[in-house]
Amino acid sequence: MMREEIVFGPIFSRRLGSSLGINLLPERGKLCNFDCIYCECGWNRDGLDDRYVPTAGDLRKALTAKLEECAAKGTPIDSITFSGDGEPTLNPDFAEIIDITLELRDRFYPSSVVSVLSNATMVCRDEVFNALRKVDNPIMKIDAPTAQLAARINRPQGHYDVEEIVKGLLRFEGDFVLQTMFLRSPDFDSSSPEVLGPWMDIVRRLRPREIMAYTIDRETPMKGLEKISAEEMALLLKPLSDEGFKIQIKG
Ligand code: SF4
Repeated sequence: MMREEIVFGPIFSRRLGSSLGINLLPERGKLCNFDCIYCECGWNRDGLDDRYVPTAGDLRKALTAKLEECAAKGTPIDSITFSGDGEPTLNPDFAEIIDITLELRDRFYPSSVVSVLSNATMVCRDEVFNALRKVDNPIMKIDAPTAQLAARINRPQGHYDVEEIVKGLLRFEGDFVLQTMFLRSPDFDSSSPEVLGPWMDIVRRLRPREIMAYTIDRETPMKGLEKISAEEMALLLKPLSDEGFKIQIKG
């Protein structure tokens, strides 16, 4: 599912309510340094005809127009959400774009939150981290506790070291949301003790203020993937909820 505009929606999100989406990636293509087997935007190789990424100026214009229109119609917006067709922090203007978005949010919808869905790969860069620190919901992905498993699930397009990402995320001092996809394929099983145990160790180090556990919801580029039900996830994550972690499960 590709979004063609910089600002789209609002759409109903099972995680965020009425969510106005922002796509900082090309209009007709996906741009990501992961190529997840479950990505709703399909494989990277299938969407490379358009490389134009919106600038801070493009975003200001599009977001102002949309927020003016929604405010005039009385459309509710719970979250202004950076998601889109790829990884938003790859946009070279990301930090400036966050500042503009916060300014416009304060002007038009002061009670809505700003959320960024990110694969966390750029969190070690100070400029990206400092921008993520300013938003209400930095929602950062760790699906796999080892580089070997990440290679199967997320298929990073370059160097990826889970320990480096964990160190980057530790700088949030727990003030972020961790998102993790749970699924099974013929090659691996997110619910197996070899995966779950080390992933929980990472959670205990990071102490995120919330965990969003979810599973596949739509058609996936890799076939043969299996959902893990909400009930099963709740059971798997019970040790963490017993320890006081706040967990949101979307089956
Ligand atoms: S990180 Fe997100 S956008 Fe990138 S490939 Fe994975 S699911 Fe798709």
